[in-house]
Amino acid sequence: MRLARRLFAGFALVITVLAILVVAISGQRLARELTARETDQLTREAQLLATEWAQQPNADAEALAHTAGGALGHRVTLIASDGRVIGDSEFADDALPHLENHATRPEVAAARAAGTGVATRASPSRGDTELYVAVRSALGVARVSVSTAQLGDIVSSARNDVLLSALIALAAALALTFAFSRAVTQPIVELRDVARSLAAGDLARRPSLSATGEVGDLGTAMHRMAEQLAARLRELQAEQDLLAAAIESLHEGLLAVDAHRNVMRLNDSARRLLRADRPVPFSADLLPRDALLREALAAALAGQPSGPSETVIQERTLSITARPLGDGGAVLALLDLTATRRLEAVRRDFVANVSHELKTPLTVIGGFAETLVTDDLPAAQRTQFVEAIRVNAERMRRIVDDLLDLSRIESGGWRPNPSAVDVAAMADDIFSAARRARADNAVTLETAVDPRAPTVYADPTALRQVLTNLIDNAVRYTPAGGTVSVFTALGSGDAGAWVGVRDSGIGIAPEHLSRIFERFYRVDPGRSRDAGGTGLGLAIVRHLVEAHAGRVEADSAPGRGTTVRAFFPAGPAMPSEAEMHDSRPYAVTGP
Ligand code: ADP
Repeated sequence: MRLARRLFAGFALVITVLAILVVAISGQRLARELTARETDQLTREAQLLATEWAQQPNADAEALAHTAGGALGHRVTLIASDGRVIGDSEFADDALPHLENHATRPEVAAARAAGTGVATRASPSRGDTELYVAVRSALGVARVSVSTAQLGDIVSSARNDVLLSALIALAAALALTFAFSRAVTQPIVELRDVARSLAAGDLARRPSLSATGEVGDLGTAMHRMAEQLAARLRELQAEQDLLAAAIESLHEGLLAVDAHRNVMRLNDSARRLLRADRPVPFSADLLPRDALLREALAAALAGQPSGPSETVIQERTLSITARPLGDGGAVLALLDLTATRRLEAVRRDFVANVSHELKTPLTVIGGFAETLVTDDLPAAQRTQFVEAIRVNAERMRRIVDDLLDLSRIESGGWRPNPSAVDVAAMADDIFSAARRARADNAVTLETAVDPRAPTVYADPTALRQVLTNLIDNAVRYTPAGGTVSVFTALGSGDAGAWVGVRDSGIGIAPEHLSRIFERFYRVDPGRSRDAGGTGLGLAIVRHLVEAHAGRVEADSAPGRGTTVRAFFPAGPAMPSEAEMHDSRPYAVTGP
């Protein structure tokens, strides 16, 4: 309300000054006007008196003065031509001789000279200030006077009236001014409040638009400005949300650091890669202590872009690219190369493994072939060498076949065509082949099928391959007198069934157990090769089972036996026609 008060004070000052001026000016004018009228009046009275006196030259001047004074209500003085006072309504007869000669009185002298004389001065005979008007007559000078104190009374009473009316007018004007200044400032105050709210970020506030004129225009402009501001902010917010969502969904880790080395923003990927779970902002010193990361950050903060360069942080291979920001901060992009590098390593190992696996039989074949070229070999030895060549060629074929199977499953070119398969029947089938392969019959082969899970939902050809590989391994690594058992079990929580092979064989040491499903991994390479293993059997099993959305597990105790089992998810109650014809059948290479 400060504006209203200032307006009010301004108006009040102007009105008060006006009132004072009106009172002062009107008071003065009134006094002048009154004096002029009184002078006129006295002049007329003096002329009348002079005329009257001239018409009665023998009358008693003394009596005339008293009669005229009584009739007019003013002091009347009759002055003889020589200046003597010969009649005065205010003095008794006997006092007249004692009065001063009036010939030198200014009004008397003026009347004697010009006919009429006016003077306002102190009266020596009465002792107060009087207004004198003198008129020349044939017998002397007739003078009428009045005390100015009377005039003053009239003026001051009139002035008091003016003052009172001015005060009333002033009060009314001030009340009106108060109302007016409030009416003028109220919309401005409202605009100010709305502007403050807008500046403080409350974009929902709008002026009421009730004011007219310039203030109304200002209100409308502010209304429009608020609308535009809100729309712009909404757009900005949407853009920022979009950007934030895009950054969050990035597979790359992104983090922004300000000029004071505080991490201001980082997306989920960056949190995961750097294992940073504290809320932002936090100091960049709390990031993992990696030299390359720190160097890249320091360089970018100094305005120098860097990268991409590779480092290993928290067992993850990261490619780091750093860029300076305009405001002195920096942004770091982290690309997780762990899987790529691991895959490259696997690929390298794989090529080395394959080369190594193929090299041995090739060397053997080459050696025997060279020896066979010589003619002088006994027939028995020749047959023996040819057999060795056949065995090694067979081994190479098995390796190549296994590799082809693996690559077909892995490349996604093959999809299982599952149905409910009778496990006991399939196991019996494979057992007879295994018995043929291991002629000593020293291992007992049995089935232990859970009556609640007599079948598993799997591609029959793939399941046959899985069971063949597992039974082959079990038979191979179980000494004479042992037992190999094919079993099924209901999946506990999951809808599906387990199928596996348990043996009482040599077992696998714990440090090897987690790696037996890797390609070419063998606990005892020499023994495996001698037994005709390729090192790929369990890798094929794992891939086949995972293609069914299942999983494989192995438990083992060295010297006591091994259990390898595969979980197959339950299938639909009735497989649809489309599903039955959709997938290409999986071609299995013989054992
Ligand atoms: P391989 O052709 O050598 O058998 P696998 O991939 O089938 O290759 O098996 C990998 C390795 O796991 C084998 O070399 C062997 O050392 C070990 N292994 C697999 N099954 C058994 C088992 N039932 N008992 C003991 N060791 C086993």
